[in-house]
Parts: sequence; C-alpha cells; structure tokens
Amino acid sequence: MAQLAKLPGIGEKTAQRLAFYVLRAQPEYARALAAALLEVVDKVRLCPRCFSLTDGPNDSLCGYCTDARRDNRQVCVVEGIADELALERTREFKGRYHVLHGVLSPLEGVGPEQLRIRELLLRLQDTPVEEVIIATNPDIEGEATALYLTRLLKPMGLKVTRLAQGIPMGGDLEYADQATLARALSARREI
Ligand SMILES: [Zn+2]
Repeated sequence: MAQLAKLPGIGEKTAQRLAFYVLRAQPEYARALAAALLEVVDKVRLCPRCFSLTDGPNDSLCGYCTDARRDNRQVCVVEGIADELALERTREFKGRYHVLHGVLSPLEGVGPEQLRIRELLLRLQDTPVEEVIIATNPDIEGEATALYLTRLLKPMGLKVTRLAQGIPMGGDLEYADQATLARALSARREI
C-alpha cells in the first residue's frame, strides 16, 4: 500500500482502494500485474536519438524515429513522454520528436545539462531538419526553455516555431483536449 501511495496522483485513500481491489481479485491478476510492471522496468528504455520510450532491442531507434512515413524536416520538442502522446493523439503532426525530459528550472536546480539539449543540437547538425516546433508547456519554465532553445537554434538557420495560443497560460499540454491541441499546432507561430 505504501508503495502504491508513492505513485503520482495517488493519495492514501486511492492506494487503499487499489490494494483492496488487487486483494479481492483472483491471485492470477496480482501475478499478471507484477509481471507487467517488471516487464516495463526490464524492457522499456529511451530511444538513443529522440529519447522517447521504446521496448526494442538495445541501441535500436524507436518507432517515431524509424517510421519512414514521418517527415524528417520537422522536429517537435516536448518536455515529456505524456506531451508527446498528447500531440500524437491529435494525428496532426507527422514529423519527428525530441523529448527533453524536463524544463529549465533554476529553482529546482535543472539547467540545460540536465535536459537532452546537447543531444538535440548534435542531432540537428546531421539531419535535414528545417523547422523545430517548440511544444513546451505555456508556463514560466516552459516559456524560459523555449526562449533558451530559440537562441541556440536560430543561429543554426532553422525555422523555430511555438504552439499557438489556445492552450491557456499555465496550462498543461498533457491535459489539453485534442481539438485545442490540434489547433495550437496548426496555428503555430514563428519566433
Ligand atoms: Zn526515437
């Protein structure tokens, strides 16, 4: 129960409810759940190019990077995996992704070297990318990160765009509805 309560968004009451559910279910369910959790830990790792999750063999690229139908000329930079999934649900974006795994946050001691920024710059040097869409959240840290990236990317001759308004300031991409997110993507502006 204590382990369940550590999960994000799960308070003690919910942890209790989940634990009772597992206890009441068939023992096979608990075993399957434990096996699924272990499988995630053992198999899932980060793609060496875009840092999305993948369960492919070691050092192999993820599905987003290898899908030949996706456009190499656009790279969408997101804070985390959940944002990438939210954008993917809109079915509007057909380019590649780059997951930063966080945002700049001096107060929490997160600087550029803690994010996958160096990897992004290296990657952009040897791929035919024309546009980088910065899809960090519209909050203070997300905006600061977008500004920081723009200063690095513009001198490289890249078109840098930012998702349009529609996502409220302080809002969270992950929880934006599909229509709002699709609109923000199609009406993105150059910065
Ligand atoms: Zn990838």
